[in-house]
Amino acid sequence: MDKKGILIVVSGFSGAGKGTLMKKLLEDYSGYALSVSATTRAPREGELHGKDYYFISRDEFTGMIRDNRLYEYTEYQNNYYGTPRAYVDEMLASGKDVILEIEVMGAENIKKQFPDTVLVFVTPPSAEELRRRLLGRGSETPEKVRGRLMRALQEADYMDRYDYILVNDDIDACVKELHNLICTEHLRMSRRSELCGRMKRELESLNGGREQ
Ligand code: 5GP
Repeated sequence: MDKKGILIVVSGFSGAGKGTLMKKLLEDYSGYALSVSATTRAPREGELHGKDYYFISRDEFTGMIRDNRLYEYTEYQNNYYGTPRAYVDEMLASGKDVILEIEVMGAENIKKQFPDTVLVFVTPPSAEELRRRLLGRGSETPEKVRGRLMRALQEADYMDRYDYILVNDDIDACVKELHNLICTEHLRMSRRSELCGRMKRELESLNGGREQ
């Protein structure tokens, strides 16, 4: 079968709207699987174990590292975050496109292991808009907003290593763009080697071989 699942990493500044983007992508289109990360951070209000994250202890997390059950992991603001192997393997094998919503170091790590991975960076249209969205959350203190903007400045250094950049201005347009770019990625010649080989074989057979 030629239609193998593609691995897609989505990163972006805190406040870029990645969470909403992922949610809408899964609602609007079928064929996607969103990887659920393991983390040692405490759940936020409304977050569910097994849906938003696997909320585990530091001991459990180091156990997963030791047993090689993570494709990548990182320490981010004093908490561990990592991508469990089993789900990614299972979904890719079943032909689903698997989305990892992870930060920039994790993205680099995944790209090294899977050079075919599509790296997508999501940004608001401007830095001012990013600040406005962070302040608009209400839950963030001015210090926290400053911290997130400083972290955004650091992450901006990694943006040009990504394959695609999506501007999340209009969420519906952004979801369509994400879906369309993944569809286009499926058409890459390098992902269609089986079709290519079959066409060559069929043409050879139709022509009774090649001219010498
Ligand atoms: P939050 O605590 O706000 O949910 O996530 C903090 C950051 O960790 C976000 O940038 C998110 O994309 C990233 N993250 C979530 N899961 C993983 C993971 O499994 N691996 C890595 N490297 N980063 C992750």
